Amino acid sequence: MGLDEDALEYHREEPPGKIEISTTKPTNTQRDLSLAYSPGVAAPCREIRDDPAEAYSYTTKGNMVGVVSDGSAVLGLGDIGPEASKPVMEGKGVLFKRFADIDVFDIELDHDSAEEMVHTISAMEPTFGGINLEDIKAPECFEVEERLREEMDIPVFHDDQHGTAIISGAALLNAVDISEKDIADLDIVFSGAGASALATARFYVSLGATRENITMCDSGGIITEERAERGDVNEFKREFARDVPEGDLRDAMDGADVFVGLSIGGLVDEDMVRSMADNPIIFAMANPDPEIDYEDAKQARDDTVIVATGRSDYPNQVNNVLGFPFIFRGALDARATEINEEMKVAAAEALATLAREDVPDAVVKAYGDQPLQFGSEYIIPKPLDPRVLFEVAPAVAKAAIDSGAARRELDLEEYTEQLEA
Ligand code: NAP
Ligand code: MG
Repeated sequence: MGLDEDALEYHREEPPGKIEISTTKPTNTQRDLSLAYSPGVAAPCREIRDDPAEAYSYTTKGNMVGVVSDGSAVLGLGDIGPEASKPVMEGKGVLFKRFADIDVFDIELDHDSAEEMVHTISAMEPTFGGINLEDIKAPECFEVEERLREEMDIPVFHDDQHGTAIISGAALLNAVDISEKDIADLDIVFSGAGASALATARFYVSLGATRENITMCDSGGIITEERAERGDVNEFKREFARDVPEGDLRDAMDGADVFVGLSIGGLVDEDMVRSMADNPIIFAMANPDPEIDYEDAKQARDDTVIVATGRSDYPNQVNNVLGFPFIFRGALDARATEINEEMKVAAAEALATLAREDVPDAVVKAYGDQPLQFGSEYIIPKPLDPRVLFEVAPAVAKAAIDSGAARRELDLEEYTEQLEA
């Protein structure tokens, strides 16, 4: 109750909302204004007409991301519509600005179909250096993103899918190391087969997991070939259909190395954790209540259980803010045409590597002086760690350059120094 009241007050305080536009050039004199607008502004217009890439030199395009939603799958609130989603999208803009100094226009779309949405968003390409799709429900989100990626020459990134995949992927890289497992041999069970789960499963394969070792469960149980043949699962889930007997999550978790929860709270009990393989890895990421509580999962067994959740009040929070600001920072600065698999893998690896380094005192202080040292209770960096920007953005920019997605060569050493300045 207290938090709700405070949040309403926070948003209501004059001026309402959380963001505003401000100008970056002098606007004091008549001359300033004739440079900013007519007649002076015609000069940069002509430059861009003659070479569209000059938009990056003369406008905000290169630092501007569109956060676009239809409000169909907002946080834990569901399909609340575009207008009601605006506080979330403005909030996403706040995070882009706070963590990576990227400017955002939040765009809430009232549309009738995925088709219409694709049409509208692709028409906005001149305005933006990148598009962050947000809180669009599955399975429409897959189609919308796929088509926009084909049609647009700027990065299009559905954060609910790939952000989750990348951050939890970084956590997985470190967790397998601590529990002395080999990623290719992992038996991985997913609870949930929606936007975030499907993208995460695909990404784990990019990180080295074996597709045939992944079992997905949705509200109908294990996604089997039999169910797929019956037409019981959509075309996107079918990708992970397994030739195994039908069963439920409990059956799937028996003997598994990794549990990945992207479904709803409370689906997993301690017996299910006990049935898993030695030193299991449990990412229970349903929000606000995880599939199993952090403490319950930890105490279910005597060996090392590595647990991550979406919650900030326990260790190992899988928080998307560790990803999107820095991934877009690197992509924008390389003027990338897309955020491809190589760039996503580079982001996950940079996060995983950073978690192995000593944490500066200021960061430890910011998190209430709890010890932060690489191990089962610290497998991913903390969002307020300033090093995340310096590590992830250059790693993503480098991957963009190496994979041919960049339109600009960067001196990476110089670039990193600029970020640190
Ligand atoms: P989504 O697209 O709606 O997918 C939800 C999935 O959960 C669906 O596949 C659904 O099954 C499944 N499910 C629902 N009830 C179930 C049950 N009783 N047993 C098994 N599966 C069940 O949602 P999403 O965007 O992927 O998000 C899923 C959850 O992950 C949410 O709680 C979200 O807050 C959380 N999440 C956390 C993070 C994070 O911590 N960083 C990031 C992203 C998402 P059907 O397909 O059969 O309906
Ligand atoms: Mg979201």
